[in-house]
Amino acid sequence: MNVRPFILLFCVSASWAYEVETHGLFTVESFNVSLLGPANPTSAAVYARLGFDRLNVETPFQQPGLAACAGIGNDPKQDAYVDAQPAWLNLGFPDVGNRKFRCPTAYDLGSMPPAYRRLITSPLGASPELRFEAWLMRGAIREDDLKQDRYAKSNRPDIDPWGDKDRVIGHFYVPVTNTPGTPLNVGPGGLNWVMGETSPLTSPAVPDPNRENHFSYVDAQRNYFSALTYKAPGAVTGAGTRKDSDIRQNLWASTLLSVGHIVHILQDQASPQHARGEAHNYICRGFLSIFNQAVATRTYENFINFRVIRGKFELDAPSPLGQPNYVATNPCEEQRWIRMFDEAGQRRPPSLAKWLPSLPSVSV
Ligand SMILES: [Zn+2]
Repeated sequence: MNVRPFILLFCVSASWAYEVETHGLFTVESFNVSLLGPANPTSAAVYARLGFDRLNVETPFQQPGLAACAGIGNDPKQDAYVDAQPAWLNLGFPDVGNRKFRCPTAYDLGSMPPAYRRLITSPLGASPELRFEAWLMRGAIREDDLKQDRYAKSNRPDIDPWGDKDRVIGHFYVPVTNTPGTPLNVGPGGLNWVMGETSPLTSPAVPDPNRENHFSYVDAQRNYFSALTYKAPGAVTGAGTRKDSDIRQNLWASTLLSVGHIVHILQDQASPQHARGEAHNYICRGFLSIFNQAVATRTYENFINFRVIRGKFELDAPSPLGQPNYVATNPCEEQRWIRMFDEAGQRRPPSLAKWLPSLPSVSV
């Protein structure tokens, strides 16, 4: 991903982890070994139970009669998903003021594995970025969205219609202490963020009416229920029935997307930076560099980013001299990480530059 320098202090004292490409790959691999994975002998029964067996596997939630999705809007579109405020539907139907329809973007697609970007031949069909698993991947990728000005203009996600935000602030949680583990414990904490509840460990847990994450577990449940039941009140008309159906189809996309967002947080919890509040995002110059973790202890993240992306992206071209490998926070850390291989007498890892569009300034 292409991200402009992030708030400096936060960079050194807080911690981010996997690249979005790694999150996407984790997710599609998880899908493939799940009950929904096509190779799973029980997947046909699960698809039938969900009613998915009647859908086109390549474009399961597409509404062919609708206008193509092009930017955030107020009405259902062909490949759109719904982004709704917590209050949506609490105030009655259709509550158009609390819902928006959003589109898949080039940014999502550019962070997916090569087969989904159609860079290599695959049996995934003409629009792999719209398959079931791609909707899950999209959620896992977009969960790391930062404010717009963190990105180069040429390659950034669309802006959150409910407020530009750094979503990653909600990705930290130390289970041992039940705290975020960020400096001064700022942020909602990963558990509250992912559940969408104010106090998930108390019973009964209730949805947070002010939650900023609209793709939390309670949102996934609401999207699922609404995908099955949404129907605006009033006289039954052909146009009205059609619109309800279009919205339900967009809500199915939101359901899978929300699950992808949730899976991202689970993935983050498998990283020491997120579950132990370890410093991250290496700084090479200035006094802030004294807060750095040693490169050796940063190896977990660098190694996972490298191994996952390289393992699945099937690299074949050695990098040009001086080309970064895209596994570390910045070229400086990259050099130090690679130097570890030299010092250990090991072969240097080859470059990932072919598959990743640009060098990240932070990893999230
Ligand atoms: Zn994250």
